[in-house]
Amino acid sequence: MKIGIIGLGLIGGSLLKVLSGKGHELFVVSSNPDTIKKAKIYAGFVSNQMTILSGCDLVFVCVPISKTLEILDELEKIVSENCIVSDVASVKEFVMQKKRPYSFIGSHPMAGTENRGFDASFKELFAGAKWVLTPFENTNKNDIEQLISVINLTDAEALIAQAKEHDLAVAMISHMPMLVAQGLYNAVKDNSLALKLASSGFRDMTRLAMTNTQLAVDMMNYNGKNIAIACDKLFESLNALQDKNYKEFISSISSQRAKMYSNDGKNILK
Ligand code: NAP
Repeated sequence: MKIGIIGLGLIGGSLLKVLSGKGHELFVVSSNPDTIKKAKIYAGFVSNQMTILSGCDLVFVCVPISKTLEILDELEKIVSENCIVSDVASVKEFVMQKKRPYSFIGSHPMAGTENRGFDASFKELFAGAKWVLTPFENTNKNDIEQLISVINLTDAEALIAQAKEHDLAVAMISHMPMLVAQGLYNAVKDNSLALKLASSGFRDMTRLAMTNTQLAVDMMNYNGKNIAIACDKLFESLNALQDKNYKEFISSISSQRAKMYSNDGKNILK
C-alpha cells in the first residue's frame, strides 16, 4: 500500500518508525525542516506539501486535536474517494460529525508519553497497546480490515467502539486522571519537605501532570463535558471510601486492580 502520515510528532513519528521497512511505500508530510531531514531515513517520500499524498491508499493524520479538522478538510481536495483516511486524535466524537468524500475511519492509539515531537518518537510505542477504531455504521468492512492490517504491524491490538462511548471512557481513564495529577501536584508544591520526601508513589501518581500542554488544553476543550462527568464519578467514589466498610471495600479494589496488568505493564483485560 501507499501509506501517508501527516505530522511527525510523538505519534506520527513513532508510526513512521514502526512502519518503515514493513513492505509499504511511505509518504510523509512535516512542517519542520529538521524533521524532514531526519524522516528521509524512514520514508521514500518526504515533503512539507500535502499534495504528495494524492496517490495514497491510506493516510494517517497525526496533528494536534485542534488542528485535525482543518487537515481532514484539506485532504478532501487531495486524496481520491477510495483512499482510507484515519486520524489519531485522543477525542473522537468531533471528527465523526461530518461524512467525507474519502473513506474516513476515526482512530486513537492508547499509547503515549509526556514527550512530544519527532525526537521523542520511537517504534515500540504502540506495542501491546489497544488501538480504538470508530468507523461509521456504513463504513466498508474491507476498509476497516485494511486499516487493522496496518495497525497490526505496530503490534497494537485494534478494537472497535462508538465515538461517544470512547470519549467518556478516555475521560475516565486518561483525561480526568491527568487533571487529578495536575491538581495533586499543585496541592503539594508549596510544601518543600513533602516534595523532598516524595518517592515512587508520588512520582507515579503525578506523571500525567507532565502531559504536553497543547494536548492537555485540547483534551479539556474537546472533551470537557465527559471530563466533568468523570470528575463527578471520582467525587462520588471518594465519598464512598469514607464508608464504614473501608477495609472490605479497599481489599476488593486492590484485588480487582491487581488483575488489570501483566508483569510487563500491559493491560490484559479483553
Ligand atoms: P506532538 O508530538 O506535538 O506532534 C504533533 C505534530 O503535529 C507536530 O510535531 C507537528 O508535526 C504537527 N503539527 C501540525 N500543525 C501543528 C500545530 N499547529 N501545532 C503543533 N504541531 C503541529 O503531539 P502528539 O502527542 O504526537 O499528538 C498528535 C495527535 O496524537 C493528537 O491528536 C493527540 O490527541 C494524539 N494522541 C496523543 C497521545 C499522547 O499521549 N501524546 C496518545 C494518543 C493519541 P511536524 O513538525 O512534523 O509538522
